[in-house]
Amino acid sequence: MGPQKGTLLRQELGISTYEDLLYHFPFRYFDRSQVNKIASITPQTEYGQFIGKLINLAEEGDKFRTRLVGTLVDETGKLELVWFQGASWMKKSLLEGERYIVFGKVANFNGYYQISHPEIEPLNAETNIPGRQPVYPSTEKLRQKGVTNRSFAKITQSLMDRLRPSDIPETLPKYLLEKYGLYPRYMAFAHIHFPESEFHEQQARRRMKWEELLISQLQIGKLRLQNHVQQGWKFDVVGDGFNDFYKKHLPFNLTNAQKRVLREIRQDTATGKQMNRLLQGDVGSGKTIVALMSMLLAYDNGFQACIMAPTEILAQQHYLGFTKFLEEMGIPIKLLTGSVKGKERKAILAALADGTLPFVVGTHALVEDTVVFKNLGLAVIDEQHRFGVQQRANLWKKNTLPPHVLVMTATPIPRTLAMTMYGDLEVSVIDELPPGRQEIKTVHRKDMGRAKVMEFMRAEIDKGRQAYVVYPLIEESEKLDYESLMAGYEQVKIWFNENKYRIAMVHGRQEVGERKRNMERFVKGEAHVMVATTVIEVGVNVPNASVMLIESAERFGLSQLHQLRGRVGRGAEQSYCILMTGNKVSNDSLKRINIMVSTTDGFKIAEEDLALRGPGDLYGTRQSGTLKFRLADIVEDADILEETRQAAKEILAADPRLVQPAHSGIRMLMKKQGQDSHWGKIS
Ligand code: ADP
Ligand code: MG
Repeated sequence: MGPQKGTLLRQELGISTYEDLLYHFPFRYFDRSQVNKIASITPQTEYGQFIGKLINLAEEGDKFRTRLVGTLVDETGKLELVWFQGASWMKKSLLEGERYIVFGKVANFNGYYQISHPEIEPLNAETNIPGRQPVYPSTEKLRQKGVTNRSFAKITQSLMDRLRPSDIPETLPKYLLEKYGLYPRYMAFAHIHFPESEFHEQQARRRMKWEELLISQLQIGKLRLQNHVQQGWKFDVVGDGFNDFYKKHLPFNLTNAQKRVLREIRQDTATGKQMNRLLQGDVGSGKTIVALMSMLLAYDNGFQACIMAPTEILAQQHYLGFTKFLEEMGIPIKLLTGSVKGKERKAILAALADGTLPFVVGTHALVEDTVVFKNLGLAVIDEQHRFGVQQRANLWKKNTLPPHVLVMTATPIPRTLAMTMYGDLEVSVIDELPPGRQEIKTVHRKDMGRAKVMEFMRAEIDKGRQAYVVYPLIEESEKLDYESLMAGYEQVKIWFNENKYRIAMVHGRQEVGERKRNMERFVKGEAHVMVATTVIEVGVNVPNASVMLIESAERFGLSQLHQLRGRVGRGAEQSYCILMTGNKVSNDSLKRINIMVSTTDGFKIAEEDLALRGPGDLYGTRQSGTLKFRLADIVEDADILEETRQAAKEILAADPRLVQPAHSGIRMLMKKQGQDSHWGKIS
């Protein structure tokens, strides 16, 4: 390949070395072992290979835009061939009346068929019919400049022809190749580019994915080892705060799952090593009380504790909830958010610095540089996927020793994803809802059924319940969404007679005080209906609310719908979730809605979500850079993930620093991967 095309390859695809080229894997293969008859083309034909005589070769167009057109005939019919680029050059290299073998994508124009820019070669004694031909990812620009798929296949083929097995040294230890029946590395590269059969291709891919996932599992495993030796504060007493609360103030019996999780936290924090724990529990499973009791544990051991929420509303709500208990117990707690300013802020900052304030609830304002704790022992992070990795890391710097970290998430993370993303954290699961909850009834209703829906809501409210009406406003700045929210609010006011029913509204454009007042009215039961955007998505807790009406439900993702639905069904009453859509719904949206209607199991929904969307979109993982695999897909390759996790565990147990000669290959791979990933930043 000449220097010009070489430069283009580097610019367009980042390919500048032989290794890069080897790693530029085909994403599919054409079966070119068959030759088709032209008459066998149907509108369904995608690609085809034909042999025939080339006739009627002619340049068309004017001097600015020319194209070359020709016809291929076999004994069954005619097929048009066309070139838009390099027409005159092409014309010179082709001969009318000769026989050619032609391959390409067949376009159908009302029953007349055409291939543009076919792969074409004269048919003579030396022509051999190719077998499986790799298809490589490329770009429009490369194609325009004449770097065709065939060019890729050619240069890769000539590279492979020159390479000996010793040029691609093995990276995985022999014992793993044997145990898991994996192709040697050389063979994997050979068969991923030019597979002898589908079976060979699959084995080649399996080997490459295996290597990829093993390295990521090893990275995670190493981090886990490091975290385990990271020194931390030792909470060795369970004192008056915790016990008092448990005996006198706890308004219900803890579920067994809550007890188990608290035990895990107590054990973790008593070891003298830093705790890094992910607490996973479906919406409404009662994570908040676990947070509070963990904070009391820190308090009993003479430490400060903070809880950080993703929104003001949530922080506010935790603050109100915690204050109720802590006031009775005489323990001070303050709220620190962006809107706490002036004297009040100063006083809180001073009290945190000198240690007189043991507890603080806040938003990301808590990780600002001005916030200094005297001795932060525990940081609880609620609904963590809203926080960037960097923010989580920042909390660490506030102490001589890092605080214990408890990350709580209400978005159930499928096991495969948890293993990959949070493999460095210990995981606790609350897999049990508090007793007496009834399954939320979920239905799908269309616009034309709106009157009935409103009637139903009124009836619920007349029974003393409250209701949410949620509008999509994914980007708070989107004007159209904002307008439809306002229009919706007016609508709701009409449906619900204002003299009889009171309506509150919260959204991101409101001034904070106004939002707070509206929220409080609903929390206190003064407002019957809460019109809101997704600002109420996470964590809001109003047990008396029994109806969740979601407008334009087709626009929400599954996990978001699940979060929203979780705002009801928090009390003892039967609750309902109504998914409103337009009269026409796309298939994809309908799929999501049907999943919601059919199950309330958060884990199931999360699995479905992962399957529908792929992991890249979920939970802001894209930015974390932890899920970028060349080939592996953690949903589809869950079995390989499991194998590699096990293998990584065994490797690290036997050789934690990977110094054994058998592990030199994987050590090298890890070093290489470590250079361009962000593992270090993930606490
Ligand atoms: P989430 O896990 O979604 O944050 P919360 O902590 O907000 O859930 O709890 C949901 C509701 O369940 C709250 O009203 C809380 O008081 C209540 N709750 C929590 N634990 C129990 C329990 N063991 N028994 C009864 N109710 C509980
Ligand atoms: Mg919560």
